[in-house]
Amino acid sequence: MAKKTEEAFVTEITPRSEDFSRWYTDVVRRAELADYSPVKGCMVIRPYGYAVWELIQQGLDRRIKATGHVNAYFPLLIPQSLLMKEAEHVEGFAPQVAWVTRGGGEELEEPLILRPTSEAIIGTMYARWVQSWRDLPILINQWANIVRWEKVTRLFLRTTEFLWQEGHTAHETEEEAERETRTILDLYAEFCETELAMPVIKGRKSESEKFAGASKTYSIEALMGDGRALQAGTSHNLGQNFAKAFNIQFQARDKSLQYIWGTSWGMTTRLIGGVIMTHGDENGLIFPPRVAPYQVVIVPIPRGNWQETVLPRAQAIKADLVAKGIRVMLDDREVYTPGWKFSEWELRGVPMRLEIGPKDIEKSQVMLVRRDTREKIATPFDGLAGRVEQLLAGIQQALFDRAVSFREEHTTQTDSWDEFKSIMEGRPGFVIAPWCGDAACESAIKAETQATIRNLPLEPTSPGGNCLKCGTPATTLAYFAKAY
Ligand SMILES: [Zn+2]
Repeated sequence: MAKKTEEAFVTEITPRSEDFSRWYTDVVRRAELADYSPVKGCMVIRPYGYAVWELIQQGLDRRIKATGHVNAYFPLLIPQSLLMKEAEHVEGFAPQVAWVTRGGGEELEEPLILRPTSEAIIGTMYARWVQSWRDLPILINQWANIVRWEKVTRLFLRTTEFLWQEGHTAHETEEEAERETRTILDLYAEFCETELAMPVIKGRKSESEKFAGASKTYSIEALMGDGRALQAGTSHNLGQNFAKAFNIQFQARDKSLQYIWGTSWGMTTRLIGGVIMTHGDENGLIFPPRVAPYQVVIVPIPRGNWQETVLPRAQAIKADLVAKGIRVMLDDREVYTPGWKFSEWELRGVPMRLEIGPKDIEKSQVMLVRRDTREKIATPFDGLAGRVEQLLAGIQQALFDRAVSFREEHTTQTDSWDEFKSIMEGRPGFVIAPWCGDAACESAIKAETQATIRNLPLEPTSPGGNCLKCGTPATTLAYFAKAY
């Protein structure tokens, strides 16, 4: 009976090595992270997935506040005329904007849009709030939902509505705005690497890939298990573009009237997709302990008088772990076999499992199983909570190290167009190559290989040679990849 259930269960997930994209959708749905909704393009984030988002929010919010920012909330609906004020911004977002034209049973005098991002509404408010240099800087973050119409739905990766945080800051000087943009880029990178065990490459976007209306966009890019890159976060130096469009002016120290220098930056629920695709394996998800809804699952083995012997011990262990701040699930459901539970919680990515049966009680030990390596370690009751805590930290580090090795194995430096093309077939990875800086050349590369420039190194590097595509002298090195 148990055997049959397990076999039926395993076939529910498409093998990762066979079809990465289907594997992804299968694990997201089977692990109950998210589901499709009756509204095309929109997803439902289920409790297990939302728990991951809450952990991401907590880790990120803590960092955002520690760097001097405060949270606020602005409206979901934005008057059409506000979005129209910044020309490039409108052009960039127009195709994805959703409109509200009726309300209260009547046609609206002015159509409203559902925010695709909030520069327009926040800029309008900043124009009212900023009078003097003494009012600066403004360092505000918002946790919100966003609507950008999408034709294709990919749970967590591409949906019409998603959740994010968006920071919007206003500064007295250009230098200060640039420093803020880079501070956030560093904060994002540190967050991804520490909390998500997801290594990222920091860099600057090319002109054609930058945010609509920004003067400079920086990004962090991570490499997924199928060799495609995921843009995990962006930080924009807006220069004075939005300040001029929204008339955000202040009286400077020398009494002259100046425009503020702005930044905006965001990370989204797409990070959950990043975690899944960075760490998952053939058996399902693997959550880094710091963002795992449950860090430990305890599975009691129901033999003999287990309810008098095993269960109380399992409950005591749970209490010890919880007292250390560890998130624990004690799965004492009798309707499922231990074997079924093992594969269920493996699929759902719990970093560590503790098995405990009558024999373990006799030996005063539990069987501890790591999700990442599936290694089994007999561990004595004595000092168990401390050992678990230590091992969770070890798993977090091991996942990061593994992801770094994978990225290194899938990063190639070349200036050969033929080699570039062959790498971009199959499971590509990053290619570092010299590039001329020309947008037409960049788009020709994309047309032929689907690869895009993910970002350019932060520090100017000597490209040493000619552009890999057009052969004219290169101006920079660039990170290329096929991307989500
Ligand atoms: Zn070129």
